[in-house]
Amino acid sequence: MAEGIPDEIMMDGALIEDLAEVAKDEALLQGVLMRIQESPNSSELVTYAPFTLFPTPVPKAVFLQALAVQTHYNTLVDKISQDPDFLQEALASTIEVDDFTARLFRIHQQILKEGKAQSIVLGLNRSDYMLDQGEDGSSSLKQIEINTIAASFGGLSSRTPDVHRHVLKVAGKLEESQRILDNNPASGLAGAVAKAWELYGSERAAVMFLVEESQRNIFDQRYIESELWKRNIPIIRKRFDHVSKTGSLDQDKKLFVDGHEVAVVYFRNGYMPQNYISEQTWDARLLMERSLAVKCPDISTHLAGTKKVQQVLARPGVLERFFPDQPRVVEQIRATFAGLYTLDMGPEGDKTVAMALAAPDRFVLKPQREGGGNNIYGSEICRVLQAAKGTTDRTAYILMDKIHPAPAQNYLLRRDAPLKISNCLSELGVFGAYVRRGKDTVMNECAGHLLRTKSSEHSDGGVAAGVAVLDNPLLV
Ligand code: ADP
Ligand code: MG
Ligand code: MG
Repeated sequence: MAEGIPDEIMMDGALIEDLAEVAKDEALLQGVLMRIQESPNSSELVTYAPFTLFPTPVPKAVFLQALAVQTHYNTLVDKISQDPDFLQEALASTIEVDDFTARLFRIHQQILKEGKAQSIVLGLNRSDYMLDQGEDGSSSLKQIEINTIAASFGGLSSRTPDVHRHVLKVAGKLEESQRILDNNPASGLAGAVAKAWELYGSERAAVMFLVEESQRNIFDQRYIESELWKRNIPIIRKRFDHVSKTGSLDQDKKLFVDGHEVAVVYFRNGYMPQNYISEQTWDARLLMERSLAVKCPDISTHLAGTKKVQQVLARPGVLERFFPDQPRVVEQIRATFAGLYTLDMGPEGDKTVAMALAAPDRFVLKPQREGGGNNIYGSEICRVLQAAKGTTDRTAYILMDKIHPAPAQNYLLRRDAPLKISNCLSELGVFGAYVRRGKDTVMNECAGHLLRTKSSEHSDGGVAAGVAVLDNPLLV
């Protein structure tokens, strides 16, 4: 690796062992923390969040390109969320076969019918990319997906730069250590939450983090909470069942949970079917959506983040619908699109199926799911598409070109895992934060970045799934 960490360091076993100890201690000192799997709801036993020993080289031009396009992605997601005709058309075939998306869509329709109670919109998202390696060794930025609900690691990634700086210094790489970028998504995300809370306009009202049953990654959220408490904004952490049992709307549709008025609901849960364990959970989601509280995200922004919408956006002319007079913006967004193909019924979808069956290793088959581990690869693609033959089952998925990033060697530090060198692939995320009131965009920002790295043996899965680990870009 020419511009990364030289082999004399990478291959020096004794040095690597020392550096790994130094790195873990520094991660603990800097607060790159996670609760342990055995006790996810207690902070009595915590460990470092998994991370790479070294930062990963990332070409500066593509990194800057990802940052530069983020505010346009924010605008795009926000415009989609305000276009019910587009959402209806884009998701029509999906909701016929995918019960989860259909259920979300029904809430969206009910809110449309009743009229939105709140005109303040708060969007926190993360657009994820891989750098596709060209034959000439060049790399181009390709979006994997955009997460419009519960996008994580904005907190912990604010603390990882100092860990890698320290490791590089101890390894004698002072110049490289100075090239690790500052990063503070926690502050940017909290800034947008604070703005939405302020616009809501009640000092007593709280920001409610809607959290999961199992809270292993709580420290990631605590960073954002701390930033808000510093501004004297009260935070409450509640689960769906708390909302079911104690939630209500008053005559003005103000949301009350456990006796607290809620100004902002920040969803860190509710993105996958398993999060909705009962009808009461769905009722709680609906209650929050109908309320005057600012939702992050609201139901239509949640739907704007589906993979089906991503595929429809890649069709000719669709971006132009959202940016009719801004060809440069269209160009900037479109440049990040990988090949995306419909599986709708009809000749176009048939063509997609034939293409996938002929060369399954060139593609990824994606259902409308979040949280990692749901995509389908290789011969399994053929199995699924053949099983769906003659039915509409295939419309639950989209097909996407597989992106091939250049592998890089690194050590993945993870509790109880042996220290060994791995061939790794990285995924770059960029955080977006925006606030709108009615027609006025009050804030639209790129809030920072996240690099996650996994062993190339794994085709899928994030940090929470135990596959990827936290990393930092080393710009080259
Ligand atoms: P999720 O919402 O579950 O995170 P993603 O679209 O991010 O779904 O896919 C999960 C993982 O699968 C990604 O983090 C990446 O590792 C891999 N992946 C997804 N799409 C592609 C692709 N087009 N090419 C290569 N790998 C992909
Ligand atoms: Mg996702
Ligand atoms: Mg993802």
